[in-house]
Amino acid sequence: MLLNRLSLTTSMLILTVTVGLVVWAISDSYQHEELNDIFYVKLKERFNDEVSDQRIRFDRQVKSYYPAVRTYAAMVNIRDYLESVDWSSQQNIEIIDHKWPPAWLPGLSMMRRFVIPRYALLLDSSNKVREIYRYKNPMLADELINMEDDILNSSFGQSYITEINNKLYVIASAFVGEEDESPRLLIISPLDEAFLLATQNVADKKHIALLDDKGERVLVSSSQVKIPAGVLLSSLKDDYLTTVAGHLGSGSSDLLMQFASFVSTEDVRQQTAEVLNADRQIRLITAIAYILAFASIMYWVTSRIQRLTKKVIEFSGDMDIQQPESIKKDELLELEDRFELLVNAIKAETAALEHQALHDPLTNMPNRKLLNDRVQLELLKSKYKNSSFLLMVSDLNRFKEVNDTLGHHIGDKVLKQASERLKNALRRDDLVARLGGDEFGILLPNTSMSAADTSAQKIVDLFNKPIIVDGHSLNIGISIGITEYPTHGENLNILMQRADVAMYNAKQNGLGYSLYKSEEDQNSVDRLALMNEFRIALENNELQLYYQPKVDAKTGKIISVEALLRWKHEERGFISPDIFIPLAEQTGLILSLTIWVFNRAFSDWNIWKKQGHDISIAINMSVYCLQSTNLSGTIESLLKEYNVPASHCILELTESLFMKNIDQAKHILNQLDQLGVGLSLDDFGTGYSSLAYLKQLPMDELKIDRSFIMDMINNENDAIIVKATLDMAHAMGLRVVAEGVEDEETLELLIILGCEIIQGYFFSKPIPIDEMSQLLATQTLKR
Ligand code: C2E
Ligand code: CA
Ligand code: CA
Repeated sequence: MLLNRLSLTTSMLILTVTVGLVVWAISDSYQHEELNDIFYVKLKERFNDEVSDQRIRFDRQVKSYYPAVRTYAAMVNIRDYLESVDWSSQQNIEIIDHKWPPAWLPGLSMMRRFVIPRYALLLDSSNKVREIYRYKNPMLADELINMEDDILNSSFGQSYITEINNKLYVIASAFVGEEDESPRLLIISPLDEAFLLATQNVADKKHIALLDDKGERVLVSSSQVKIPAGVLLSSLKDDYLTTVAGHLGSGSSDLLMQFASFVSTEDVRQQTAEVLNADRQIRLITAIAYILAFASIMYWVTSRIQRLTKKVIEFSGDMDIQQPESIKKDELLELEDRFELLVNAIKAETAALEHQALHDPLTNMPNRKLLNDRVQLELLKSKYKNSSFLLMVSDLNRFKEVNDTLGHHIGDKVLKQASERLKNALRRDDLVARLGGDEFGILLPNTSMSAADTSAQKIVDLFNKPIIVDGHSLNIGISIGITEYPTHGENLNILMQRADVAMYNAKQNGLGYSLYKSEEDQNSVDRLALMNEFRIALENNELQLYYQPKVDAKTGKIISVEALLRWKHEERGFISPDIFIPLAEQTGLILSLTIWVFNRAFSDWNIWKKQGHDISIAINMSVYCLQSTNLSGTIESLLKEYNVPASHCILELTESLFMKNIDQAKHILNQLDQLGVGLSLDDFGTGYSSLAYLKQLPMDELKIDRSFIMDMINNENDAIIVKATLDMAHAMGLRVVAEGVEDEETLELLIILGCEIIQGYFFSKPIPIDEMSQLLATQTLKR
């Protein structure tokens, strides 16, 4: 549509103007007609009122003829004049014709308030006309000069109208003197156009007329040109509004006449048109004012819309959503389009985010959250339908080795293929989710324990086939733990935990898959209980530190002692750190536990210092602690607090778990190195650390794990590993500690291989502080 492409203001204006004009035109013609009618009626009413006025004026004029002639007759001028003339001769009377006012007629200006007669006649006592005054008028008709007696008599004492020779006249007469026999004064005016005009206001556009008895024919009018005498009223109907006021009541007459008034319909039309035009102008101005007001409102609205559009564009920009440069539509439609675009983009983005929130970016499989949600849903459904479902937790068996030896790049590819395999092994309704690392969770809705073996075996079989990645054929293998709702638990956490327990069982015993059995659970219940007890023990200071010497292989002197935690449980007796340290790591207690160790070990170190022993103190540090960003700051203040030189503190990094955030770990290790403390890599050979990785870390010392040392005399393999490790460590400038040295033979061999520091039961088991003080004092070591 064309309107769409124009600006909102323009299109709204066009709309307003068209609608406005149509409405105006309709209302105008209607109003025009209505007004016209009203006007016509009103005018006619007014006209009716006016006509009686006109008639009164006419009457007054006619009536005033008699008083006027009486006044003239009573004047001194006329009496004086009559005394001066002799009218005794009755023969051959010559009528004196005055064209100017004669002596017997008083000055006209003086008489102006009376009727000024057109003719004045002076008659002698025998009623013969002796003198005539006819200022500028033609001579009177003979019938009026030799007037019949009854006309003369009728004119006495009143204004008398009569028709003579088809002409109307007003006549009035009076005696000059008291007696009836005295001379008479007669005034006459033709009742013609001029007479009628004189009775009315000169300004009046209306005409008046006298009509015949029946009111049909015009006898005389105030405009002979427009309404000539003799014309019929009916023929004037179209050109004039006529009002007939009825028969005349003024004066006396032998004639019956009607009085009429005429208004030109053209005049009425013109008057109406004038008013209507003025009204039309006012309406036009109102309409224009309305349009202007509307236009400014539309302009204001449009600019608000444009501002909104601008905001939408800006917001889109902030959100990296592309908006077209221009949209060829009006402002509202443009806003609508842009808004829709924005909303759709946000919807898509939200959907993507939602997908991201519920999926693993590497494999694009559902993540733990999605699995949890689905399990919760399944719990509700199964509860309602009284059905069961299976929840599996699986872990790849040799993934860590692959990842360490071949790198993350290959590891990622293995994970992708593994997830494909899992998906292929399952039904459409089942859900596989990556829980993290090489751990996957599987939900099998509407499935009972009886189907568990088949499903799990299928997966295990699939994973027994090697995974081929970049030319490597990798035997990965999988371990699966299975729980069933509702047999093994009625909520997500318990089902997950128990599936975990079953999975560890499968892994430890190389079973492939294992269904949860409650005896295994007893273990984990124990573990939880133990954890709580350990927490309380830490709070109540029930832990102890034992110390084990690290001895210089050449001199046999104790150069440092390693602090080892001991927990004597009230009922269970000594509990190994191998049990409670992993617990502390899993529950986040490890950092506060380590700080506790620092405090105790440093204060013990001060005791030995006072006793005069110059030894270093070695403290075990879980890699978990490297996740604490302020670790070096904490240690620095501890060193200060206990006045321990950094060079006398060795941190043994126990790597029970693979370092998750290697960059952060490196960063913190560098900080510790800066601090000046010694860094030692514990249990070398068992953990995840490879030599390549060791090179990147600022280590000073390497402790070969006791599992290699203890059997190196009998196991040639172990001896070779120990020798290789020693050579390599030395090449990298590290000193080497051998731990778990229980006999002299091993000691001798290690000395030959060049090992610098020895630790083990051969010299001393871990012992309490007092015993360590004694040992230091006597230095009675076995060598
Ligand atoms: P580790 O750091 O490798 O500590 C040495 C372990 O080997 C100690 O076990 C010690 O008693 C034992 N050992 C020493 N010489 C011999 C020997 O000749 N023969 C045999 N069979 N064993 C020997 P322990 O005290 O049970 O500690 C076990 C592990 O617990 C430690 O291994 C360490 O990783 C961890 N641990 C102990 N205390 C702490 C601690 O305060 N913090 C941290 N993070 N871990 C600790
Ligand atoms: Ca250690
Ligand atoms: Ca060790």
